[in-house]
Amino acid sequence: MTATIMDGKLIAKQLKERLKGEIQSLAALGIKPGLAVVLVGEDPASHVYVRNKEKACAELGLHSEVHKLPDNVEQDKLIDLIRLLNASEEIHGILVQKPLPSHIDDKAVIGAISVDKDVDGFHPVSVGNLLIGDEGFVPCTPAGVMEMLSVMNIDVAGKRAVVIGRSNIVGKPMAALLIRAHATVTVCHSRTPNLAEVTREADIVIAAIGKTKLVGAEHVRPGAVVIDVGVNRLPDGTLAGDVDFDAVKEIASAITPVPGGVGRMTIAMLMKNTVEAAKNLSAARIGG
Ligand code: NAP
Repeated sequence: MTATIMDGKLIAKQLKERLKGEIQSLAALGIKPGLAVVLVGEDPASHVYVRNKEKACAELGLHSEVHKLPDNVEQDKLIDLIRLLNASEEIHGILVQKPLPSHIDDKAVIGAISVDKDVDGFHPVSVGNLLIGDEGFVPCTPAGVMEMLSVMNIDVAGKRAVVIGRSNIVGKPMAALLIRAHATVTVCHSRTPNLAEVTREADIVIAAIGKTKLVGAEHVRPGAVVIDVGVNRLPDGTLAGDVDFDAVKEIASAITPVPGGVGRMTIAMLMKNTVEAAKNLSAARIGG
């Protein structure tokens, strides 16, 4: 068997096309969704991520603002900025790019974002809403995985899913989303003994580890769906996932490549959340 390749580039493009239509309808009502990104310090990777977010906003016709603050900014100043953005009528989504410098308390900063504008889905109230099954923003990467599964008509209900990784940004919300979609979910991590034994039970394996090629053919049951969230930079500068793509594609029924897989979905979902936030915050004008 050779797996179907789940083309994140194409699925993200289709999602962005759908969003363009919604953005045009909002424009007719005088509403332009706006995203504010707060960037602290000079981390080169963060600068690249923020540029990509700006580019995506420009491509879709969203308003975007990048607020760059120096590495030594006081926490109070950062929180003051977030309060201004919470109050701004032009801004519907606020994202604080991580990592933040060590003198800043991440929780205080994320907790200061208005839940209505928490398009990253990291505010504790958003996390709670996800767990109790209420409406709210969901972190973009796991939301992107669910979108890919849906577009590929991979029904999750009743399936056994194994998530490898338990981070707050990927593993845990991923597991919560799969539970919400009625999968039977197991979460593995660095203390899980006999990982391959557990993952071989799965109909759907989701790797969010950060270790190149940790998931090999021995981890995958024939016919399983394999989603690779990992993004690892190799010594030659190229990117690789957590899954040994060449080996696993011979066994899986469907697989995401790296690059060109889940990574493509993350920014598209951020755009989707920003449009959603604009619709929610403008409900009175839309008539909703
Ligand atoms: P993270 O916070 O470092 O979490 C990694 C998880 O993997 C942890 O739960 C860890 O277990 C587990 N783990 C580490 N070694 C393991 C092993 N040998 N066996 C089983 N589990 C193991 O990373 P993250 O932020 O979740 O990101 C994971 C990967 O996804 C990274 O490659 C990151 O670059 C990528 N990522 C991609 C996107 C995207 O847009 N595509 C977005 C976010 C992240 P413990 O909890 O026990 O330490």
